[in-house]
Amino acid sequence: MLMAKPFDIATDVTLECPRCRAYKTVARTPELPASVRLIEIICPDCDDGDFHSETWYSALGVEVSQDARAEP
Ligand SMILES: [Zn+2]
Repeated sequence: MLMAKPFDIATDVTLECPRCRAYKTVARTPELPASVRLIEIICPDCDDGDFHSETWYSALGVEVSQDARAEP
């Protein structure tokens, strides 16, 4: 169930699909900058098989650079 526990900005981040606007709360990963509050990423229902990159946003809706993230 969505939002089964209170959202904690210290440990949680929101994923939102840019197409259908479905969202869910997931645990933050260590490489995620503290300023990131929302990650826009295509959900499985909207995934058409193309490559989709994610976009990071701060609490103010400003895009956060992913340059600091380590490349695999
Ligand atoms: Zn979707």
